[in-house]
Order: sequence, then C-alpha cells, then structure tokens
Amino acid sequence: MHIHRLPAWQATLAGGTVAVLGAYALDSTVLWLALPAAGTAILLRTAVRHRCSWWLHFAAALAGLIAAVWWSTRTGVPSNTPAGLSLAVQYALAAAAAFQFGRLKQPGSAAEAGAVVLCVAMLAWSFVVLPYLGEPGHQQADIALAALYAVLDLALLATVLRNLADSRHGPARLLATAGAVLLAAHLVHVVAGGVGGTPFLPGGLSHLMVQFWWVLVAAAALHPGSGRYRTGDAQTGRTALIAMYTAAVASPLLPAIAHPIPAVIVPALLTSALCGLLLLRIVLLARLAGHRAGQARQALDEQRTLQRRLAYRAGHDGLTGLANRDLLLEHLGRAVAGDRPYALVLCALDGFKEVNDTYGHTVGDTVLRQLAGRLLLFAPEVELVARLGGDEFGILITAGDITGGDAAELAERVVAAVAAAPFAVDERRIPLTARAGLADGVPGNDAVLGDADLALRAAKQAGGARVARFDESLRADQSERARIAAGLREALADGTLFMHYQPVVDTATGRITGVEALMRWRRDGELVPPAVFIPVAEQTGLIGLLGHRALRLACEQAAAWHREHGLYLTVNVSTHQLRDPGFGDSVLEVLAQTGLPAGALVLEITESVLIDAADTPVLGTLRAHGVRIAIDDFGTGYSSLAYLHTLPVDILKIDQSFIRRHQDPPRPQDVSLTRAILELARSQDLLAVAEGVETAGQADLLRELNCPLVQGYHFGRPAPAEAIGALLREAALRAAA
Ligand code: C2E
Ligand code: MG
Ligand code: MG
Repeated sequence: MHIHRLPAWQATLAGGTVAVLGAYALDSTVLWLALPAAGTAILLRTAVRHRCSWWLHFAAALAGLIAAVWWSTRTGVPSNTPAGLSLAVQYALAAAAAFQFGRLKQPGSAAEAGAVVLCVAMLAWSFVVLPYLGEPGHQQADIALAALYAVLDLALLATVLRNLADSRHGPARLLATAGAVLLAAHLVHVVAGGVGGTPFLPGGLSHLMVQFWWVLVAAAALHPGSGRYRTGDAQTGRTALIAMYTAAVASPLLPAIAHPIPAVIVPALLTSALCGLLLLRIVLLARLAGHRAGQARQALDEQRTLQRRLAYRAGHDGLTGLANRDLLLEHLGRAVAGDRPYALVLCALDGFKEVNDTYGHTVGDTVLRQLAGRLLLFAPEVELVARLGGDEFGILITAGDITGGDAAELAERVVAAVAAAPFAVDERRIPLTARAGLADGVPGNDAVLGDADLALRAAKQAGGARVARFDESLRADQSERARIAAGLREALADGTLFMHYQPVVDTATGRITGVEALMRWRRDGELVPPAVFIPVAEQTGLIGLLGHRALRLACEQAAAWHREHGLYLTVNVSTHQLRDPGFGDSVLEVLAQTGLPAGALVLEITESVLIDAADTPVLGTLRAHGVRIAIDDFGTGYSSLAYLHTLPVDILKIDQSFIRRHQDPPRPQDVSLTRAILELARSQDLLAVAEGVETAGQADLLRELNCPLVQGYHFGRPAPAEAIGALLREAALRAAA
C-alpha cells in the first residue's frame, strides 16, 4: 500500500496535539518542558530562513520557555502578579509577532488595523475595564496588570481577525487560532474569578490551552506559506468599508449603552456624529483621489497612444505604410547581431521614372501603393517588407532555410508578382516589370545592404535574368567601375578620348560612302573597349558629356570628308542622351558650328531605346532637319518587326551575329534569315547595312543578296582619322585614274 507522507506542518499539528494530551494525562514535568523546547527550536529554524515576523514568534516562544522552566523549579501556588507578569512577555510578543505577520504591504492597511484595534478597545473599555475598575478590593499592581492584559487581549483579538483575513490561508489561520487559544486561556482565567496563578501551572485548564499555542505556532512555522507575502490589490472592499463606518459611528455609543446617563449619552452622541462626518469626508476625498487617478491614467494612456503613433511614423513609410529604411536597418542590425543566417532582397521597378514623367506623380504614387500591397502578400514568409525610397523595396528574410535557395526562389516570386498583372490606375493599365538583387547575410557581417544593392544593379544591367545574387566579383566590379568613372572624368578634360572611324562600303560600287565614328579611350597607354566604359558612363550620367564630345569631334572631322568625298557620318547615341531635353538643339548646334550638313549625319540608336523614344518629339524634329536615324544592332532587341513601320527610322543595321553565321559554305537557313531581314528593310523603305563582315565569302553573299551597304573588318577596321583620310585619297586617285 502506498502511503502519502503527511506535510510537516500537519504532522506537527497531529503529533503536538497527541503530545500535549499525553503530557496532560501523565502530568509529566519533562514532557511539559520538552514541548515548549521543541516548539522554540522549530521557530528558531524558520526565523533563520524567512526572517520577517518569525524572530518575534521565536522571542515569544523563548520567553514562554523561560517562564515554564522558572515555574517548574518553584513549589506552591504563585500569586496573581508574578504569574501574570511572567506570561505577559510571551503574550505581548506573540501578539506583536502575529500582528507583524498579518501586516499587509498595502497603503492604508496600518490605518485599517488601527481602526479595528480602536473599535475593540472601545468595546473592552466599556464592558471589561470600566466595570473592573469599579470593583473595590483590588490592589494597584493587580489593577495595572489587569489593564495590561485587557490591552494584550485586544491586541490578540486584532491579530486573530487580521490573520483570518490573510490570503496566506494556511499559516495565517494557524496563527489566528494560536492567538485565539492565548486569548481563551486568559478569558477562562478571568471568568473563573481571575485570582491566583494555578490555572497557568501544569494541570490547569489555561495552561493546557497555552500548550496548544506552541503546537499551532510551530505548525504555522513549518507551513509552506510561512515565508510568502501577499501582494494583492490595494483597494479596500465595500464590505470592509461599511464595517469600518459602522464601527466608527457605533463604538462611541457603547459607553452610553453600558451607562445610560445623560452625562455619558450626550458626548457619546456628539462623538458618534463627529466620527461619522469625519469618515464621510475621508471617503469623499478618497473618491476624488480615485477620480483624479483615473484622469491621470487616461492622460497617460493618451500619451502612450501618441508615442506609439510617433514610433510608428518614425519606422514606416507615409505613402505605402510599409516599414521604412530606418526600421529595416534596425531589423537588419538585430539579424547581424543574432546567430542565424539571413538574407536581404532589394527590388526595384524598371522604368518607374517614365511612369511618373508620363502620367504624373499621383498615378506614380498609386502604382507604388499597389506594388506595396503585392509585396505585403509575402509578409507572412519574411521578417520585414520595407520601402527604401523611390521605387526601391527591401525584403528581409530571417526564417526558413534561406541558404538552400529559398531566398532566391522568393525573389523570383516577388519579381513575378510585379509582372503578373498590369497596375490599374483609373482607366489606365500600366504593365511594369521589376528586378531584384539578393544578398545572403552572415551573423556579424553588416555589409548585406550594400551587397544586395550591388546585386540589384547587376540585375538591372543584365539583359535576361531579373534576379541577381551577390558574390564577391560584384564588389570587385564595383570598385573597377568607380575607377573607370574617375578616369573618364579626367579624360574629358585631358583629351585622352578620341575617335576611330570605320568605313561603310557600297556593295554596288565597292566605294566608301560613309564612316561610323567609334569612341576610343586610352587609359595608362592602353585602349579601354567601349563595351567596358560606355555602360559606366551611362550609369554615372557621364555619357551626356562623352556623347557630346564624340559628336563634336566626329562632325569636325567628317565635315571635311563630306566636302571632299561626299561621305556621310554615322554616330552612336545612347538612351540617356535621348532623354536629355536639350539633345536635339545640341545636335543642330554642333552641325551648324562644324559645317556638316544635317543630311550627312546619321544617329545610331539601338532597337529597344528607339521603341522607348518613339513618342518623344526629338527624333521627329531632327529628321525634319534632314538628320537620318539608324536602328543599330537590329535583331538583338525586342524583334519589333510588327511595329517597325511606326518607328522614326531611315536605316537598319543588321547585327553582326547574323553575318557571322555565314560561314563557307553558308547554310541555307542562315541565308534565308538574312534575306528575310533585307526584304523587310526594302518593304519599309529602309536602307540596310550589314555589320561585322569579316570574310570575302560573306561580302560576296551580301552582294548577291543585294544588301546595299556593308561594314566590317573585311573592308576596314576602325582606324584613326589620318588612316581613313589616306584610304579615301587612295580611292579617289584610283577612281581618277
Ligand atoms: P556598334 O555601334 O554596333 O559598333 C560596331 C562595333 O563592332 C564596334 O565595336 C566595331 O569595332 C566592331 N566591329 C566592326 N567590324 C567588325 C567585324 O568585322 N568583326 C567584329 N568582331 N567586330 C567589328 P567597338 O568600337 O568596340 O564599339 C562597341 C560598341 O560601343 C558600339 O557598337 C557602340 O554601341 C558603342 N559605342 C562606340 N562608340 C560609341 C559612342 O561614341 N557613343 C556611344 N553611345 N556608343 C558608342
Ligand atoms: Mg553603331
Ligand atoms: Mg552595331
């Protein structure tokens, strides 16, 4: 059979009761001394552990033990005074200890306890002390002692009531009962006549009751709740308030009930009324204070709400409601400081500036808000979606297996979500695409924002893939680009930028009819290819100045060639130059200054740029002056065959990749493709130029296909103006001969 062990306090209660009754039956002095000694020892142990009131309990027990030892060495019956005095110390300390234990850590609780004690004092004074003092035949010391015990009894009663209301039910109730048995022991003595100390000696009824005090206090000390303090709400309950009010008003009336004579009744009534009014005043003041506290709490709440709002504003973007850069940086900082991998995706729209320019900022803002809505759909999967400014958005990923490609997959989905459907603003449907750069973060490395930014730029430069992931080579690229940009700025000033010219040959006559101007840059004695420095110039905005310089140099040179040989000049123009509103005027100005007729100038623009620029007036204006426009690298862009006729162009330059296919002997399918492009050009009244002709076979084939103009290493590499000049003079001499 499984036996539950009794808790120590219950065992003490049971064992102690048995021991007390056993000692009573046996009337054993040793047991009568052993019991208080054991209780004192238990209290010492608890006092050392929990401090608080238990030291007082221990002191009370020790005083009781000393008194018990003292009386055990005496014979005969002690008289009232010494017996009373010897126990008074234990009584007083016990009451103090119990009161201390019951004291709640609440404002006003001391006043409450005081009210109870005073109320009881009034009762005792009226019914116990007053009649007692009136009896003749008591000695002065006895009278004083009786008064002392009356006060002690009151204190005991107060502690009993106090402890009964304590939330630490177990130990508090034990202490309340202990106080009650002390009180009872004295009351039994008083009821029995209150003369002599016999009832307090072993065998007496009062003595027996006091022994239970030991048992109860020792059990309370061993109770698990003995060390806990109550932390409840500080409000005085309604019932307690009514009780206090009644006591305050009723207790002054008690002497009048005990002695119904006018000399007592009148002051009693007045005092009662005064107490009532005072208490009413106190209650009203307390109400007012409560109301004030409520108002203060409301003001505090409002302040907190405002603070929350301000904090929200500080961390969020006003237009979209997404987190802003600051909040992203904050979260990023936490991720950096953490110990888990994370990733950052930066996402930007393609051509958002054009949306703003074409439809206005109100429409642009609506697009951004809709975009934010689409990005927010990813919020459950990620840590934060933020707008970093303009059309750039950041997504921080801290959860999931981001190293395993989840972040890249998410970036792909983000980009797909942007392109999935056009943005609908009023009646307009605006289709947009986006690009994303992705960088993996490692704890402790805070470069992730810069890395993701580099990746985004890489994605913007890339033709095909819309998502780019950061790797170290991008950072190297970045510093190389910065070096190139700085070099180009110097080159604009020191003249290390110059032009080469490549002949364009008429297949019918074999004569040079034009030249393409190609920019060259010699850095530290070495030629840097345009494919390297032109994109950097475009990204840094330097292309405007660079392009203008190229145009001026080329026109100055070609003006002479045009006069002497009737050559035309063709110059490459980049998209950024076309966006410049002053571009048209600057071209016409250069023509006027250099003396090259507008009809001798061709501007080469790549296919995609041409489509974007189709509705800007600049090309129309220039064409009206006689300047011709060529589609460069035709066939590598959008394959805009369907609306070729809507574009403002005059010349079509077939990309070298088509010509390179024509190996010896040429494959029929390649020939048919070139033929188709040439037929298309003819049908649109466009002059066709084949680029990248490197072999005689390719040249023959193009002649057979009736391609009017050709250009390539086979006819002449890009060369300095002097070399071209020599070539032209040679050809002129040959023609004259
Ligand atoms: P592009 O306008 O298509 O110029 C033709 C490119 O093909 C030139 O490269 C030329 O040297 C090269 N090329 C000519 N014939 C052959 C051939 O038979 N075989 C091969 N493999 N290549 C041939 P380059 O000079 O390196 O210029 C590259 C690109 O840089 C140009 O392509 C053009 O888009 C751009 N570029 C050059 N100069 C300027 C400029 O002044 N302004 C702008 N905006 N872009 C320029
Ligand atoms: Mg070109
Ligand atoms: Mg080309």
